[in-house]
Amino acid sequence: MRSGSMRVAEISLPAIRHNVRRVRELTGGAVIVVVKAGGYGHGAAITANAAFAAGATIVATADLEEALALRDAGVTGPLLCWLHGVRADFGEAVDAGIEIGVSTLEQLERLGAAAAERGSQAVAQLKVDTGLSRNGSCPDDWPVIFARAAELEAEGLVRVRGIFSHLANAGDEADRAQATRFDEAIELLRQAGIDPELRHLAASAATFSSPHLHYNAVRVGVTAYGLSPFADKTSAQLGLIPAMTLRSEIIALRGVPAGTGVSYGFNHVCEAATTLALVPMGYADGMPRALNGSGAWVTVAGEPRPIVGRIGMDQFIIDVGPLAGRLSLGDPVVLFGDPEQGYPPVEIWSGLMRTINYEIIASIGPRVIRVPIDGPDRNPAADAEARA
Ligand SMILES: *Cc1c(COP(=O)(O)O)cnc(C)c1O
Repeated sequence: MRSGSMRVAEISLPAIRHNVRRVRELTGGAVIVVVKAGGYGHGAAITANAAFAAGATIVATADLEEALALRDAGVTGPLLCWLHGVRADFGEAVDAGIEIGVSTLEQLERLGAAAAERGSQAVAQLKVDTGLSRNGSCPDDWPVIFARAAELEAEGLVRVRGIFSHLANAGDEADRAQATRFDEAIELLRQAGIDPELRHLAASAATFSSPHLHYNAVRVGVTAYGLSPFADKTSAQLGLIPAMTLRSEIIALRGVPAGTGVSYGFNHVCEAATTLALVPMGYADGMPRALNGSGAWVTVAGEPRPIVGRIGMDQFIIDVGPLAGRLSLGDPVVLFGDPEQGYPPVEIWSGLMRTINYEIIASIGPRVIRVPIDGPDRNPAADAEARA
């Protein structure tokens, strides 16, 4: 870490390992950990390594570029990616041993051609659309794609390692309808002569809500980072530990008289004399600007204190009135983290912003340095006891 970094996302490796193990214990099958978008803001390589250490079978990204970047960062385990532009170079994927999620016949042909050119074998997982209406092949195209996949497999050019689909999370009934279509796809693929090693439908939500949708693998993102995919359930209730602690520090303290206006537009005016602390994080770092005036708080010296005035691109202000005598420059400020450790949960921000925790963590900006923190693995039984 560069010295003097004022904006740090500490990433707890024991927390990620705990969360991946928790999913493994819950499902009993293979676990694919999704590290797209920079590991949901946590750092893709940091997360990938921790996930493999905890027994993940595959680490997945959306784009091939992200998967190639993981190879460049020295990640050697199995990688899968599934969202491809028309110019994605599957030759690079074959060279780097990256599994390709295939949604169209055209992608399958490109993958087969890349393998043929290199005299090697590509690995594919067939992505089928069972109702999300997004990425993945449509049922009408399954017979042709599956037949061609079987040919390419017979020629030794493509190994079909898996079949997968993604849920719309539109309720239990809709999930079951998607599972029925997924079963049909698996059956059709078997009739075409391919019995795929991995069959996966559930992401985090169905992993925790619907054991009947586990098949023999699940693909989890947000829960690997210790966050809940449900609005009405906390991390602790799911047995998960939030991995990110977003920290900054106080870089200025100033006593002000009653009536002092704070930050752009003076939309906060101090009612009484108080002390203001300046913190060098802003909307460029992923703090939603619209948190202004919403009642959001951070912890300073272990105490909750309100964010006041408009959040700037680089900095915001907290009213530290009652704590003033105890504070010095450089004291840590925690923006969010594990509520079991007394930090504000990220869900305060996502709730105030009417969005989901995913969006907040994925928006943490590039100036924030991701610092992996290792330590002894936590004992889940002891954790549960501590919570009780
Ligand atoms: C992002 C993504 C996931 C992970 O979703 P979570 O809800 O974070 O577990 C799984 N599968 C696909 C296809 C995705 O795009």
